[in-house]
Amino acid sequence: MQTKDDSIVVDPSQPDLVINVGKVTFGEENRKKLQKNQRDQEKKKVVRAACALLNSGGGVIHTEMANEDDHPVEMGQDLEQALRELIQSSDVLQAFIECLQQGRHSYIYVKSWSSGPPSEDSCTKPRICSLSSSLYRRSSTSVIRLDPRQALDFLKTQKRNAKHTLRNEESPPSEIPNIIHQNVSESNPAFQVFQSNKIEHGHILPFPESQSVEFKQYSTKCIQEYVRRKIPEYISAFANTEGGYLFIGVDDKRKTVLGCAKEDVDPDSLQRVIAGAISKMPVFHFCSTDARVSYETKVIDVFKKENLYGYLVVVKVEPFCCAVFSEAPISWIVNQKQEIISLNTKEWVAKMMDTDPDLAEGFKSLLISSNIPPCCRPVYFRKVPEPKASIQQHLF
Ligand SMILES: [Zn+2]
Repeated sequence: MQTKDDSIVVDPSQPDLVINVGKVTFGEENRKKLQKNQRDQEKKKVVRAACALLNSGGGVIHTEMANEDDHPVEMGQDLEQALRELIQSSDVLQAFIECLQQGRHSYIYVKSWSSGPPSEDSCTKPRICSLSSSLYRRSSTSVIRLDPRQALDFLKTQKRNAKHTLRNEESPPSEIPNIIHQNVSESNPAFQVFQSNKIEHGHILPFPESQSVEFKQYSTKCIQEYVRRKIPEYISAFANTEGGYLFIGVDDKRKTVLGCAKEDVDPDSLQRVIAGAISKMPVFHFCSTDARVSYETKVIDVFKKENLYGYLVVVKVEPFCCAVFSEAPISWIVNQKQEIISLNTKEWVAKMMDTDPDLAEGFKSLLISSNIPPCCRPVYFRKVPEPKASIQQHLF
């Protein structure tokens, strides 16, 4: 489902694409004085508008300056940093974005994403820019969120593997070495613990964290809320790598089983929270199945001197054939109706993979006609007086 953002709107009175984002505070010193909440809200509006313009042929972000300065001020470090992260480059912000202030108004000129400076690895540049891929992988003992370039590489690899698997399915099954599931079953020492029904409080597990093992310990009463929020990242990371085990109730430094105290958590409702969170995670297939994430949750009783102390919860995740997202990727566009909307997962993957010439047949139907951002089109703003024209020329 697409999400609309009503706090930023396309200005229908302008001949070119102009997005009004309302009041924004400019200037490093002014922004530092803002409450964090307000600073984040303003930043979110500007970055969403910039993302939508980059993905929709370029345009202008119009803001009312909330600060009182009579003279032009810089944008502010946090805004610049957020825009740099959006374009995935540390030093060419001005190649895409330039800011111009006039009286109480500020105009941020945004180029088309496809018009950026060619880089030596431009073939790996995604066709759209995104605020988050929502794709995670394991890297040694860490969970990392893939940046859009890494996400594109990952999607290409998964697509190649899916094709490979499809070809393999046509050949006799005896020729396919089935090694993939061994990671999360018998060969993994975590499997032994996963099989057990009870364990002693303070027991030190005989294996460390690894690419396929993560230990978590929550000592608060808000375990459920924390699990609900964080578990999609771990599940996505394990499923997109080689599968693995998430232990909830183990101290990661000492590998000690501490469990979740029974006063703090109801194991049935925690299992429901885990199942609910995983069921909401989007998946994308290049292969011909419509499989969901395959996982199993185990609740192991933790005893302290013969008495039930609490629970160790283990989630075993199988490796996934294609791509598992923690939530829908975050990327904004301006649609045909001039609404600013976020792409859903299918649209996002289709746009990301757009450069690929040999799209699978079923995949083509996902592409919508406005898929390819139009070439950078001339953008100007009628109310901006004469001297600024040179900047527009310079930019567009
Ligand atoms: Zn698949």
